[in-house]
Amino acid sequence: MREKYFRFMQGRYGIDALGRFLIYSVMIFSLLNLLFGSLILFTLDLAIWSYAFYRVFSKDIYKRSMENNRYLNFKACISGKIKRFFNRFQQGGNASGDGSDGCGQKFRSKCNSFSGKCYDDTYKVFKCPKCRQKLRVPRGKGKIMITCRRCQYEFIKRT
Ligand SMILES: [Zn+2]
Repeated sequence: MREKYFRFMQGRYGIDALGRFLIYSVMIFSLLNLLFGSLILFTLDLAIWSYAFYRVFSKDIYKRSMENNRYLNFKACISGKIKRFFNRFQQGGNASGDGSDGCGQKFRSKCNSFSGKCYDDTYKVFKCPKCRQKLRVPRGKGKIMITCRRCQYEFIKRT
C-alpha cells in the first residue's frame, strides 16, 4: 500500500506554500459556510479545493513552482504594503515613504522563494542624516551628492 502510494506520488508536485494557503482558505471558507450556509461560499470552497487537489497531483512541476513564486511575490508585496501603512502612522502621518512597495518589481528584485522575502539590488536606501527620511538611490554610481526630498539637506554617499 505504502509502495503504491509512493509510486503514485512520484514526479507529482505535492504541497508548497501556495498549497498550504489554499488548504487554509478551504478550511476558513468551510467554517464560514457552516456558520452562514451560503451557496456562493460552498461553490468557492469547492473551486479552491479542486484547484488545491489539482496542484498537489499535477506533473507539471515547473508551472506549479511558477505559480508558487507568483503567490510568494504577491504575499511579500501585500505584507510590504501593510508594514508601510503602519509605519506611516507611527511616524506621525507626515512621512511619505520612498514610493517602493515591493509590488510589480519582479525583474528588479530578487526573492527568496523559501522565506518569500524580497530585496532590491538596483537601489540603495539611505537615511537623511538630518530628518531620517528614507531616500532611494540607484546603485553603482560612485560617490554622489544626495539631496533630501523632505528637508533639502545635501550629503555625499558612495552607492
Ligand atoms: Zn532630510
